[in-house]
Amino acid sequence: MSERSFSRPKRALGQNFLVDGKLQRRIVAALGAGPEDEVVEIGPGRGALTRHLMGRVGRLVLVELDDALAQYWAAEATHRPSVRVVHGDVMEVDFRRELERPAEALVVGNIPYNITSPLIFRLLERPRPRRVLLMVQEEVARRLVAPPGTKSYGALSVGVQSVARVRRLFGVGRKAFRPVPRVDSAVVEIEPFRPEPLSAEAEERLRGLVRAAFQWRRKQLRKILLQHPELGMAPQRADALLTELGVSPAARPETLSPEEFIALSEGIDG
Ligand code: SAM
Repeated sequence: MSERSFSRPKRALGQNFLVDGKLQRRIVAALGAGPEDEVVEIGPGRGALTRHLMGRVGRLVLVELDDALAQYWAAEATHRPSVRVVHGDVMEVDFRRELERPAEALVVGNIPYNITSPLIFRLLERPRPRRVLLMVQEEVARRLVAPPGTKSYGALSVGVQSVARVRRLFGVGRKAFRPVPRVDSAVVEIEPFRPEPLSAEAEERLRGLVRAAFQWRRKQLRKILLQHPELGMAPQRADALLTELGVSPAARPETLSPEEFIALSEGIDG
């Protein structure tokens, strides 16, 4: 299908299409999917990555919200039994139902930037896939891999780094897209830890603590533990816990490592 047969890119759906063939191939090569693999692609769009995946992987599940594009891929899938199309919002549809082994699946996507953070957590819902490769804004890539004590380190960094190994693979300049977006991008790889380091409940508690802490990122930790409405710890317990963990009561949230956040959330519960 020629470019002209597609309707105009829809800004509301974050449609900035990757037109650089070399980068398309580089991303697909980094995914490293073979005939044994089940792959989920979020937002195939006009097929920048899809075209390089089709026929090369065991199963390809395409999740697309745009009506016209979903129809286009559904038509393509009619004569390709290994391709499934899920027409809907990735934040709502259950794309895992199309997979035989969701915990082994690989996920790839040049994803709509307006939903990046919630989408990352959605893709990391259990059973988590084996690996996730995403094109994200450079600034989000920085936050994902940020170490403690840096400006970019925050709830996203702790949330993802506490359950997965995250790496920024390479940068992608804005000119590789049409229409050209306002920001540069980067490809990141997220590889969930195996076995799961935390129970689902422990992870939920950790998320609550991290959210509260970074809402008040300028405050000192002891104050947050005592005064944040979602925590409200008794002073004696908070002091005992901080001493036990060797964390300064005056520390700011952005100086705590994911491991320290995990220990703290376990202590709050205990
Ligand atoms: N993969 C293509 C590429 O690299 O050129 C398209 C990337 S474009 C940045 C994002 C794609 O995600 C578009 O095809 C868009 O229609 C689709 N999309 C946007 N929001 C979505 C959502 N909530 N659920 C599923 N797909 C979505």
